[in-house]
Amino acid sequence: MRKKLITANWKMYKTPDQARDFFRDFLPLVHGHERDEIVVCPTYLALEAAVAATKGSNLAIGAQDLYWQTEGAFTGEISGGMLVAVGATHVIIGHSERRQYFGETDDTVNLKLKAALEAGLVPIVCVGEVLEEREAGLTDDVLRRQCLRAFNKVSAKKAVTLVVAYEPVWAIGTGKTATPELAAEAHSVIRREATEVFGEDFASKLRILYGGSVKPENASSMMAQEEIDGALVGGASLDPKSFAAIVKY
Ligand code: PEP
Repeated sequence: MRKKLITANWKMYKTPDQARDFFRDFLPLVHGHERDEIVVCPTYLALEAAVAATKGSNLAIGAQDLYWQTEGAFTGEISGGMLVAVGATHVIIGHSERRQYFGETDDTVNLKLKAALEAGLVPIVCVGEVLEEREAGLTDDVLRRQCLRAFNKVSAKKAVTLVVAYEPVWAIGTGKTATPELAAEAHSVIRREATEVFGEDFASKLRILYGGSVKPENASSMMAQEEIDGALVGGASLDPKSFAAIVKY
């Protein structure tokens, strides 16, 4: 039985004060919720405020990206060790917005995955096809390629905490959601790829999240799919009531 993981991706929203306000309202709504793991990923700047605000609670805090070097002359970058130092435990890697706007490639995703594991962070690796790829019948190929390259030279032993998020790019922030069946199908492709790379035992324990316009109204039908092990939530995670409703699907 894989415990579901519900993750908030706040993108470039919320100052430290706004993050504190969110947790003041959100924590009582999910107090004692043990069925699922809950992770919130604010901006780098709000990480410390988020860690302090959620200390001793059932929430964990993650970052939205990291750089693969441990330190050095890399202006504007943040290392895995630095994230751990402020109390982050998780990190999103390869989000489609990073791929689309900031030059993230399958190879940099691979470097970041290795760096995250080395630093002891739980990596949440995002994969997913764009609309043209889906319409051209290329979804499975794209998912296979993204997984294969992301997992290149990563051992099952090192990758035990790995989480993958299937995020069809056409469903992110658009209000369009994949049907639960369509998402489950893509998850099976990812799990098959993980089986080939890491072996059956590893793949059977691998959590694969769905992301793309998850809202309180569709969360329960998504989470009802056996193949779906949680959600990565953007827009609907910014409001405490809406994110709490998703957590409690
Ligand atoms: C995301 O950013 O990972 C995401 C899924 O966004 P949204 O929920 O807004 O579609």
